[in-house]
Amino acid sequence: MAQKRDYYEVLGVSKQCSKEELKKAYRKLAHKYHPDVNSKDPEAEEKFKEISEAYAVLSDDKKRMHYDQYGFNNNLFNESDFGSVFEEFGFGDIFDMFFGGSFGQGFSSRSRRRQNRGADVEKKVRISFKESAFGVKKEVEYYADDLCEHCGGRGSPTEEGMGTCSLCGGSGQVRTQRQTFLGSMVTTATCKNCGGDGKIVTDPCKKCGGNGYSVRKKKVKVDIPAGIQDKDRLRVNGKGNSLGRGSISGDLYITVHVEPHPVLKRDRDNVVSEAEISFAQAALGCKVKVPTLDGEEEIDIKAGTQPETKKVLKARGFVPLNGYRRGDHIVNIKVTIPSRLSDQEAEMLAKYAQGRDEPVNTGSDFFSSLRNAFRK
Ligand SMILES: [Zn+2]
Ligand SMILES: [Zn+2]
Repeated sequence: MAQKRDYYEVLGVSKQCSKEELKKAYRKLAHKYHPDVNSKDPEAEEKFKEISEAYAVLSDDKKRMHYDQYGFNNNLFNESDFGSVFEEFGFGDIFDMFFGGSFGQGFSSRSRRRQNRGADVEKKVRISFKESAFGVKKEVEYYADDLCEHCGGRGSPTEEGMGTCSLCGGSGQVRTQRQTFLGSMVTTATCKNCGGDGKIVTDPCKKCGGNGYSVRKKKVKVDIPAGIQDKDRLRVNGKGNSLGRGSISGDLYITVHVEPHPVLKRDRDNVVSEAEISFAQAALGCKVKVPTLDGEEEIDIKAGTQPETKKVLKARGFVPLNGYRRGDHIVNIKVTIPSRLSDQEAEMLAKYAQGRDEPVNTGSDFFSSLRNAFRK
């Protein structure tokens, strides 16, 4: 056997490190090198063995003390010890850690019964532009598997209809002992036959066929917060599908669709809209009414306003999600030029142009062609 590396070195921790730090370091490395996760690295399995062994020793106060004192020069660490370490964690918990489950919550007690979790439910909800600005309470109707009312989610309406599971003998857990590279390893897993209940249905419920759940129309009141954007998702905990008694319900995910407004648009926390004024209104100034989130508002257009001028209405925009300060409402001023003029209007404008020495098309030809254009 190759020279063993120092256990602390293997885990990349100091000799004084706490149990917490040890656990953290191990979890990080184990996650990286677990052969089921890291199948590309040919050394992963070796590394995983090495770190598991180091952790097995250092996480045990007695063994750690012994190791600190004597190093590898003793016969305390025979390989069969490591199986018991895994048994202490509950090997299934380590798997949870690798594949979602309780990862990040640390190792939980092995007596914890792992429950089945129902699937999440997706639902779309439409709200108006204004509702997205100010928030709204919506009652959402959807379909999800719920505990069967007839049997209370047990799968059988009577106690006699439930028999002891023959596979696990009623414990809900199945233990298997395997010989592995780390010695004898005990794996405890939830019984597949009864799903951890210890009981199986012998007289199935007529309503749910023994599943313990059935599809039902459900309602939930949802607070859609102010500032929500189109396609944002809200999670309602535990309102998804159930798998019957003893299971954890999935979540309900609500995707919010914000209906577009005919004139108002959203740009981050601002509202943007357009206001059309004529060139005369731009030149002379005027008042125009514009729709805002808070209703119609009159804005002042100064004399001599240029095309593409932006008028900012302070704090008439959106409150950002989890914020409080409203954005602004920006009105883009569009100046329109009339495409048709009456003779009188054309004459007045021609005079106006002449007065300012601005050469324009005038004369009888011009006016008659203008008239002809209108006749068409
Ligand atoms: Zn039922
Ligand atoms: Zn069972």
